[in-house]
Amino acid sequence: MIVLAIESSCDETSAAVLVDGQIRSNIIATQLIHEQYGGVVPELASRAHQQHIVRVVAQALAEAKVAKTDLSAVAFTRGPGLLGALLVGASFAKAMALGLNIPLIEVNHMQAHVLAHFIADAETPYAKGPGFPFICLTVSGGHTQLVRVDAPLDMHVIGQTQDDAVGEAFDKSAKLLGLPYPGGPLIDRYAKQGNPLAFKLPTTEMPGLDFSFSGIKTAIMYFLRDKTKQNPSFVADNLPDICASIQHTLVQMLLTKLKRAMHETGIRQVAIAGGVSANSGLRTALNQLGQDQGWNVFIPKFEYCTDNAAMIAMAGYFKYQQHDFVGQDISPLPRLAL
Ligand code: ATP
Ligand code: MG
Ligand code: FE
Repeated sequence: MIVLAIESSCDETSAAVLVDGQIRSNIIATQLIHEQYGGVVPELASRAHQQHIVRVVAQALAEAKVAKTDLSAVAFTRGPGLLGALLVGASFAKAMALGLNIPLIEVNHMQAHVLAHFIADAETPYAKGPGFPFICLTVSGGHTQLVRVDAPLDMHVIGQTQDDAVGEAFDKSAKLLGLPYPGGPLIDRYAKQGNPLAFKLPTTEMPGLDFSFSGIKTAIMYFLRDKTKQNPSFVADNLPDICASIQHTLVQMLLTKLKRAMHETGIRQVAIAGGVSANSGLRTALNQLGQDQGWNVFIPKFEYCTDNAAMIAMAGYFKYQQHDFVGQDISPLPRLAL
């Protein structure tokens, strides 16, 4: 059974091939055009997807040594994401499924981020992933969710952000520090040389299992404004300490709610997913917390944290087994819910 998967929800054009449950190729073209604008420009994203998609799919098939005519199904990201960007991947997948007369599978991008834990590849041929049920903290550029996962295709959001995503908080903080987009990985890098307790930043506490990250962003803005008034080169003089303190604050906000979710559900297996799960501060702190609490902690490989088509292929694989196919009348949904 061979699945070709296409991801085009935001600013990476990606295609992957999965053969009998194992990833054989995962090609990712990241769009660099957005850097000069300090964020993703939707219209430019869709145009770049159009420019990249033929080459990316061809490369994925070639690397996997698979011919188009060998494919069993085509999977694509239906949402959530940018409409113009999603349309490119969806149209391409539909045309391929139609031309080859094979089933078409729609995939929810946020479900796929979670299912990245089940990806098997040449390096890890028998990846088993967490047992069920488990709690997944999905942290990305557009989402911050606590998800209860009862089966690969049975997931429920039990808590989420009421405003900004944590990835946005990382990126916007980085922008305030004058770092280029996307700033999350740069905060991570500078934080490694800094003291996480150097500066105390105020946080907003949401009730229950929900998050809020818009307040911290404003707090950082005022903090930097006040400090720069006293010392115009405050940022340049203290960059590692500032980054470490921001990262520490955001990670603690995430782990506080995760801990509550674990206690409330009594579940002892926990995973993280999404672009921010690449953050080294989060990975280290979660491993430590898991040890203290006696949880089984699952952290994805770096290449499967940020957007990639391998996770779409994995979701497609589970859906293929259930014959969960869609027709040519399917359209992308920018706000597709989990
Ligand atoms: P969504 O999945 O919600 O639709 P997205 O697909 O744009 O959004 P991802 O590609 O999963 O998001 O993640 C991108 C985000 O991850 C960006 O905000 C980026 O800054 C952040 N990120 C990536 N690596 C790191 C890191 N090491 N530390 C902190 N943030 C990081
Ligand atoms: Mg991206
Ligand atoms: Fe994503």
